[in-house]
Amino acid sequence: MIYLDHAATTRPCPEALAAMADAQERCWGNPSAIYGPGRQAKALLESARRTVAGALNASPGEILFTSGGTESDVQALFTAARWGAAQGRRHLVSTRIEHHAVLRTLSALQERGFSVTLLGVDEKGRVDPADAAAALTPDTCLLSVMTANNEVGTIQPVAELGALCRQRKVLFHTDAVQAAGHLPLDVQAQNIDLLSLSAHKFHGPRGAGALYVRRGVEAANVLFGGGQERGHRPGTENLPAIAGMAAALRRAVETMSRDAARTGALRDRLATALLAIPGAALNGDPERRLPGHLNVSFAGLSAETLLLLLDERGICASAGAACSAGALEPSHVLLAMGQPPARARSALRLTLDASNTEEEVDTAAAVIAGLVETLRKNHF
Ligand code: PLP
Repeated sequence: MIYLDHAATTRPCPEALAAMADAQERCWGNPSAIYGPGRQAKALLESARRTVAGALNASPGEILFTSGGTESDVQALFTAARWGAAQGRRHLVSTRIEHHAVLRTLSALQERGFSVTLLGVDEKGRVDPADAAAALTPDTCLLSVMTANNEVGTIQPVAELGALCRQRKVLFHTDAVQAAGHLPLDVQAQNIDLLSLSAHKFHGPRGAGALYVRRGVEAANVLFGGGQERGHRPGTENLPAIAGMAAALRRAVETMSRDAARTGALRDRLATALLAIPGAALNGDPERRLPGHLNVSFAGLSAETLLLLLDERGICASAGAACSAGALEPSHVLLAMGQPPARARSALRLTLDASNTEEEVDTAAAVIAGLVETLRKNHF
């Protein structure tokens, strides 16, 4: 099996697995309880919070644990909406290439009386800060722009957008689900007010995420219940998953530059081989891109067909976002980048990791080249 779908999810690393087992066995108490096992669990919870905060240059009191990227995005947007509504500001700005966790939350907020402007992107998938500046009005309370795109990997000018928002007194949210653990993040230097991350994208477990909420901004609840997470995210904490997330993030930050160099070199090797196939075209920004991302269209072919054949040969990849695989809709990201629907439908997303090898890359490239040739011959 050759796994080239690390943007969809990653295999938990040994550090995360060990931390999860330790939390299950040793820290099974309820962190809200005042007796020994509860205190022990609470100590582990707060240590995980310090680790996550440290990775973002935030304070532990600014981190809320959630169930993952989706919940963090939803809570971030509801937080900004409530902050804005309290001042009579009901305009939200985001982009056409966000994950559906953001786009569908924006639709939900529209139904609640907010207005939404979605910024376009250029052919490489980049948001122009000048467009963002032009879209902000005195009524705007939020700009939400992802740190890096999940389909094409394009990295956005987050620090510039953060500075703009600070100057215009607008909250700035960034969905860093694909970036956390892969790119350096600094909520102070980048003027970020709200940031979402998800453990399973950096070799942590599924079902754990975090939301950074800058001190001075009060998080809005999307769940209601007990007083956990300072009252803003009720429910008994998923401590094993949280401990696993912290361990995985610590490791990812420690190995980030080495892993990025290795992953980037593997990705470039694969890109060179695939782009030599007639009719192949790169989607995304060749320079400002996550190290593991490669998105390539093969003229005239259907990515769905290619994916099925790749699966038969033990190669795991995807077409656009994992959550829309199976749906025949062309990727909203590629359409926003100005690509015709046929090119969007023929796009394969291959996302690598430092655990991949040159042999895997060469095998995958040869298999894809062979399949493309066969499919073209058979007029698929
Ligand atoms: N945001 C982005 C950019 C993503 O890539 C994903 C998952 O693919 C999410 C949000 C949702 O994260 P989760 O699956 O942890 O809810």
